[in-house]
Amino acid sequence: MTDPSTSIPARSDAALPLAAVWSGPDSGFTLVSQPRPSLAPGEVLVRIELATVCGSDVHTISGDRPTALPTVLGHEAVGIVEEVAGPVRTRGGRLVEPGQRVTWTIGTSCGSCQRCLRGVPQKCTGVRKYGHEAITDHWRLNGGFATHCHLVEGTGLVAVPETLPAAVAAPANCATATVVCAARRAELTAGDSVIVIGCGMLGLTAVAYARERGAEHVVACDVDESRRELALAFGATAVCGPADLAEYAEKYGADVVIELSGNHRAVQSALDIVGMDGHVALVGSVSPGPEVSFEPNVFVRNLSHVVGSHNYTVDDLAEAVTFLAETPAQNLFAGLVPEPLPLTDIDAAVAAAREGTAPRIALRMD
Ligand SMILES: [Zn+2]
Ligand SMILES: [Zn+2]
Repeated sequence: MTDPSTSIPARSDAALPLAAVWSGPDSGFTLVSQPRPSLAPGEVLVRIELATVCGSDVHTISGDRPTALPTVLGHEAVGIVEEVAGPVRTRGGRLVEPGQRVTWTIGTSCGSCQRCLRGVPQKCTGVRKYGHEAITDHWRLNGGFATHCHLVEGTGLVAVPETLPAAVAAPANCATATVVCAARRAELTAGDSVIVIGCGMLGLTAVAYARERGAEHVVACDVDESRRELALAFGATAVCGPADLAEYAEKYGADVVIELSGNHRAVQSALDIVGMDGHVALVGSVSPGPEVSFEPNVFVRNLSHVVGSHNYTVDDLAEAVTFLAETPAQNLFAGLVPEPLPLTDIDAAVAAAREGTAPRIALRMD
């Protein structure tokens, strides 16, 4: 990345939307004024209140995940509707109007292709994803690191309560909704014993969400002791390091194992410890890595289920917002996000996210 003090030429016009355009690992970010989009039918212009830097943004910026360029990164965000080319409705059926506070799905879906019809709209054959696509003439504000986001047709919108702090709401449309989807795909049920591997933003969310869903035991596993302490605060009933994971799974059970670290040894452990008729949800492995192995006979006899889980549906996002609005851990979630930095400090925000100084670094757009 370029030197933060020199990477942002001042090319802004206060009256126009401003975007942190990213041109690749060597070129970094440039703040660029963008024309106000002329909305096509079904589109919405949102003024972003707060955006958070997701781990996948960090992967992209580090050069680990290729993306089309130039782009506006960022997809975890909450904002206020400024303009609608309606009628557009939220997932709850309410007409979207200026002034409404919303979050939106990370990708679009057409609703009619085979994948949408099969219930995996996040894999729609025509999906377009915020924070993942090259800027085009029509779609210049296509990510979260900007004052505005241009929501195109097929985006799922969910209303966000005014009382929900922006720092808690912003991660809903990636971290929280991804956890909700993984728990659903793993058929997490009240009374289950749940193992959560990896206690970053998603892991802490998974711990609190599993408790909310009535899990009897929630064992949180992480290499880092301070993260294990946080997991206890979020409701874990026991915590351990990787070396003790098998013992803890044996002791408390492992009906559902949610693997969020992406570490291949942790993935191997998840497959090894899952209990009878249990589910393993693999979530953290989002870039190529070493292979893992399993002995099929064990899986057959144990009636094991292994499910991959990536992104989520608009229903998962709605559930994520409801969970965040109602969880007793709301103050703890707010505490995971330090004081937001202004968009003009995006290099500093990204540097902090890369260093992992907090589970989420936030950008404010005022
Ligand atoms: Zn589709
Ligand atoms: Zn994300």
